[in-house]
Amino acid sequence: DFIGPHVFVLFGASGDLAKKKIYPTLWWLFRDKLLPKDTLFIGYARSDLTVPTLREKFEKFCKVRTDDPEQKAAFEEFIKRNSYIKGQYDTDEGYENVNTAIAQMEELYKTPVKRLFYLAVPQNVFQPVTKLIKKHCMATGDAWTRVVIEKPFGYDDVTSKALSDHLAGLFTEEQIYRIDHYLGKEMVQNLVILRFGNRFISPSWNRDHIAAVTISFKEDFGTQGRGGYFDNSGIIRDIMQNHLMQILTLVAMEKPATINAEDIRNEKVKVLKCIKPVELKDVVLGQYVGDPESKTEDGRTGYLDDAGVPKDSVTPTFATALLRVNNERWDGVPFFLRCGKAVNERKAEVRIQYKDVAGDIFDKGKLKRDELVIRVQPNEAVYMKLMTKKPGFGFDTEECELDLTYNSRYKDIRLPDAYERLICDVLSGFQYNFVRTDELEHAWRIFTPLLKKIENDRVKPIQYKFGSRGPEESDQLMRDAGYVFSGTYKWNPPHKL
Ligand code: NAP
Ligand code: NAP
Repeated sequence: DFIGPHVFVLFGASGDLAKKKIYPTLWWLFRDKLLPKDTLFIGYARSDLTVPTLREKFEKFCKVRTDDPEQKAAFEEFIKRNSYIKGQYDTDEGYENVNTAIAQMEELYKTPVKRLFYLAVPQNVFQPVTKLIKKHCMATGDAWTRVVIEKPFGYDDVTSKALSDHLAGLFTEEQIYRIDHYLGKEMVQNLVILRFGNRFISPSWNRDHIAAVTISFKEDFGTQGRGGYFDNSGIIRDIMQNHLMQILTLVAMEKPATINAEDIRNEKVKVLKCIKPVELKDVVLGQYVGDPESKTEDGRTGYLDDAGVPKDSVTPTFATALLRVNNERWDGVPFFLRCGKAVNERKAEVRIQYKDVAGDIFDKGKLKRDELVIRVQPNEAVYMKLMTKKPGFGFDTEECELDLTYNSRYKDIRLPDAYERLICDVLSGFQYNFVRTDELEHAWRIFTPLLKKIENDRVKPIQYKFGSRGPEESDQLMRDAGYVFSGTYKWNPPHKL
């Protein structure tokens, strides 16, 4: 599929996402020769920019090694392949110019150009941009057109459906790539291999053996001046409804017939169909307050102190939700989705807690529940907390772990960034890591009633201190639904042999 000329058109080229993520990612892929050989990049926005002024914006994020002449030369070559078109998002002219530029490329290469349109623009211009792409910029001949969009995909079930219907009126599902960058992360991708590539994992992956599943996202910093933006969405829209739900479906789905995108996405949708809308009684909401004793200013700043946040905001910055997957595999197993800003650490992980061993023959209370932890970030790892014999004389039990920490197991491996993988996937036409319309529809079905209830009733979140683990009520919710925290596990980093 990489044969022939390609064009990457970036709408919103002047913006934050473009400069911090998309241009740097394009450069890294170009540098590592992972892009089709003949790829040109067109930046598009309303701002008065040129390639040199655009370059000034993104170059510092590209981490070009200036001590490496070869890399410096490659970067100049990358820049040469860039152009910039200034235009409005809602009038024909700019799109005609984009199409003319691509038509010139087609003349040069004497073949249709494959066209990728990336929308790094705010949601309110998704509709005009896609409409005008369809009107003016579609590929000719046998070349493809693909459109990539970033969240938010609507604000609730109704607005999301309106956007999906609009897109469906213009493009086929094969042409639409909705990015959820968690699907581009190494350990999220690994879930399918761990689950379906291991005989000792797959037979125990069900209600007979698993006591609870927890999917967590934690950030150890607050909104840091971006609270005004965050306040429109809140942690449920920002993290839970999309990233954590996507992970949940990969953890819970049945084995797909093949690893093709449609087979996998069909299984993910089946899981979603088995989940009822989340009710407020199964949710704990939190909002952080400053810790006066913190050494940092950020740590002393509460959410409501952030300049853009209304003083009476009830927007949650922390949420734990209990979900149930009502099918033969998972009936009775609680799935906890947990996410929080300004908590004690930064991490994202999946934690599978197994049930107690039946017929304990050891001293009562000594056996602790096994846990399989898949740490998505930082320091990717898979570890299994299990019971072993305490080394030495005697016959004591001890909590220990089987530890696959990527940094120690894979010395010189560079894990590609999520965006690098996902852009390669779009170019390859590999849709497995993108959110299909029906997946999105179900994710909104599950969360919209809760979001409406919180907003209509102005449900007050529980305050938690910056740097804490979040509200104690979250642990209580998990305990009540069957998760057991023993507090006895101690991790000793392995010493070098
Ligand atoms: P941004 O910087 O606010 O906007 C991108 C560009 O769009 C701006 O440079 C501006 O370009 C144009 N623009 C801004 N406001 C506009 C408006 N009201 N009407 C029309 N054009 C407007 O946004 P971003 O942070 O790059 O994010 C782009 C998209 O990705 C958004 O949908 C966002 O939700 C999503 N996203 C961003 C991130 C991130 O890390 N930043 C992460 C996940 C998802 P011109 O004025 O030059 O045309
Ligand atoms: P743990 O400390 O036993 O924690 C297990 C779970 O219980 C976590 O989800 C934790 O939540 C939760 N928890 C913590 N305090 C609680 C409380 N007071 N009440 C209720 N729940 C509570 O086990 P662990 O987190 O798996 O491991 C401990 C440390 O060892 C971690 O820092 C881990 O990174 C490290 N470790 C590293 C490796 C490796 O690098 N390969 C391997 C094994 C362990 P929170 O998520 O909110 O804390």
